[in-house]
Amino acid sequence: MSSGVPADLHIPDNYVSHTLKTQKPLPPITWHNWYKNINWLSFTILTVVPLVGIVGAVFTPLRWQTFLFSIFYYYCTGLGITAGYHRLWAHRSYNASLLLQYILAVLGAGAVEGSIKWWSRGHRAHHRYTDTDLDPYNAHKGFLYSHIGWMILKPRRKPGVADVSDLAKNPVVRWQHRNYLSLLLLMGFAVPTIICWFLWNDARGGYVYAGVLRLCFVHHVSFNPTFKAEALDVLLVVVHVLC
Ligand SMILES: [Zn+2]
Repeated sequence: MSSGVPADLHIPDNYVSHTLKTQKPLPPITWHNWYKNINWLSFTILTVVPLVGIVGAVFTPLRWQTFLFSIFYYYCTGLGITAGYHRLWAHRSYNASLLLQYILAVLGAGAVEGSIKWWSRGHRAHHRYTDTDLDPYNAHKGFLYSHIGWMILKPRRKPGVADVSDLAKNPVVRWQHRNYLSLLLLMGFAVPTIICWFLWNDARGGYVYAGVLRLCFVHHVSFNPTFKAEALDVLLVVVHVLC
């Protein structure tokens, strides 16, 4: 905060129960109003990606070079989320040089999970209000909800207060947020297509396997609430040393 006053200074000790009592949630989703309560952007991304991936795979032969590159690119973009979005920006578990921050911000955009700023704001609320109604992916609402439902349905409440003023000041986070759509298209689809095209003349396979299907895998592995922390972090050490 520019005034030097912490954003959470006046939050009462019983903030969760106080907020749940005083802030009215949106009415429940029913068979009559469900279509007004779907987040159509997320819904489209999360259904079109697997559909295009499956149909594409049926009609596109898989070359071994493209297969290996898809696995490699899966780790790269996944690392953008685990080492970047999660450990570095949401949790501030370590400091990274400017170069490493740009690398992780660009790779993370290829995972198509929203900007660092949006992702980390939700994730900080998740840890601060774990498994209450102020947690955007409250596990008490069931596995399906905390995996994917929270993005497909419009939430009944705003996530609890979380201070992201450090991220609002970070030049890499701001740059990524401003250019998010171009970075998403570039890293999510264009780069894997171009690499497979230039190196072994497999543009179509690059798009289907390293672009679309790889993205579907990254989504469903990193949406899994138990995963966010660990699986790829071992690579963080290597990248950290190199950059
Ligand atoms: Zn976390």
